[in-house]
Amino acid sequence: MICNECGFEFQTSLRYCPNCKCNIKTESKTPVEVTPNRIKLRFYFGIASIIGSLVLIASGIYYDDFITWIFGAIIFVLTIIQFPKQKK
Ligand SMILES: [Zn+2]
Repeated sequence: MICNECGFEFQTSLRYCPNCKCNIKTESKTPVEVTPNRIKLRFYFGIASIIGSLVLIASGIYYDDFITWIFGAIIFVLTIIQFPKQKK
């Protein structure tokens, strides 16, 4: 579990953070409230980025423009990495 105060990672069996000695509620998971709208927005932004990067890659290949499709590929990879993961 990770301390809310200092971000220190420690064993879940401990009830307080050994780094800053703050008291922490025994809830192991502190849900970060993300509003559905935000998730939707990030989702659509991700989709738009993927489509945009694919268009860049396609047009780069079509026009035999190396820079364009590399640029598209970079955006594509970055989008995949940043894409919001499903909460468990
Ligand atoms: Zn701490």
